[in-house]
Amino acid sequence: MRFGSSGIRGLGNVEVTPELALRVGSVIGELYGDSVIGRDPRITGPMLVQAFAAGVLSTGSAAVDAGLVSTPTLARGARDFACGAMITASHNPAPYNGIKLWNPDGMAFDEAQQREVEEALDRSRFAGPTWDRIGAVFSRSDLVQQHIDAILKDVGTAKVRVVVDCGCGATCTITPFLLRQLGCDVLAINAQADGHFPGREPEPTEENLVALRATVRAVQADLGIAHDGDGDRMVAVDRTGTFVGGDLLLALFARKEVRSGLVVPVDASMVLEDLLPKAKVWRTRVGDVYVAAELKRRGADFGGEPSGTWIFPKSTFCPDGVYAAARLVALVAERPLDDLVREIPRYPVIRGAVSYRASDRAAIETRLDRALRDSGAEVSTVDGWRLQFEDGWALVRFSGTEPKIRILAESREEARAKEIYSAVLSSAKGAAA
Ligand code: MG
Repeated sequence: MRFGSSGIRGLGNVEVTPELALRVGSVIGELYGDSVIGRDPRITGPMLVQAFAAGVLSTGSAAVDAGLVSTPTLARGARDFACGAMITASHNPAPYNGIKLWNPDGMAFDEAQQREVEEALDRSRFAGPTWDRIGAVFSRSDLVQQHIDAILKDVGTAKVRVVVDCGCGATCTITPFLLRQLGCDVLAINAQADGHFPGREPEPTEENLVALRATVRAVQADLGIAHDGDGDRMVAVDRTGTFVGGDLLLALFARKEVRSGLVVPVDASMVLEDLLPKAKVWRTRVGDVYVAAELKRRGADFGGEPSGTWIFPKSTFCPDGVYAAARLVALVAERPLDDLVREIPRYPVIRGAVSYRASDRAAIETRLDRALRDSGAEVSTVDGWRLQFEDGWALVRFSGTEPKIRILAESREEARAKEIYSAVLSSAKGAAA
């Protein structure tokens, strides 16, 4: 089992087993020290928490149980410890689980740290301390209130009527209570923590939020808020029941937060550069870990992803969907969300894919690289190939899950977006032939 961009992730008790959690726990206890451990409501969660904690204890470090909490609650709580471990599979379906590791400053483990843990996992077990030197067990039940207090101090009050869809995930423990304390009239749905995710799938996509959209209309709410399974993501629904996804929220938050620098992944819209002509826009690989690392390196004002992760570095380097919900509610207390959204231009985006024979991948990659570099565009290879033209851009990436080359093109004009798309498509087809 290896770390991906979101930590360790796989089928619970099949790939992500107690044995694996125990080994990771012992590596963390040895390399870092006292650790705080949280989980989302997945059925395999308590088992993995116990195994991880046993691993930490076996090295002589303390294991502190934070219980069922959102990922940003745990990441913020890591400040008092050498490491924070969150047992979650984020937006994946119920059978999955995983381990995501956090530094005391709220940054997820970077690639170097993940490699270090992987290498230690491959070595044989550390020699543990004697029986009278093993670690002690504590619990912390105050992390949720600390998280709420930090947000209230920052956001103040906002009186709107809001429907919150927790998706039966970890935010059942925080977002409805937080928004009530902000002064909102809150109706919470899917607000019972349940690792079967009976209300909807944990990923907050437009299709998965049918109940939220209908409820917002039915109770005449000012907006709807939805989280993924562990609460590092947040998306919204306006008062008409229309889904307001990550791309639009990214533009809204960026317009509000950014003075000089914005960090987004390579697949975010060019609308951001148009909205923020004076700001520098840094583009990273897709994944909140990369956005957070770049934010820290550049000292930029804000970072986010079209998938619905939001990082407000003045508050924390962890993507915090709970904090983002409070910030959005404060924006909507001033003006309706549909009004705000109407001010954001929307550019045509064309998406497609080319299939290839998996065994030929290396040769195809070489041919594709040559063809794209000859296209006349400025090429960045931060993640796949990002081609920047004067009036648009394209992104070409190999899918991580199937033998397909995915293509995305965007321009202010439909005809130009199609032109860019066709040119890139023919390069990809040529390379894959
Ligand atoms: Mg998540």
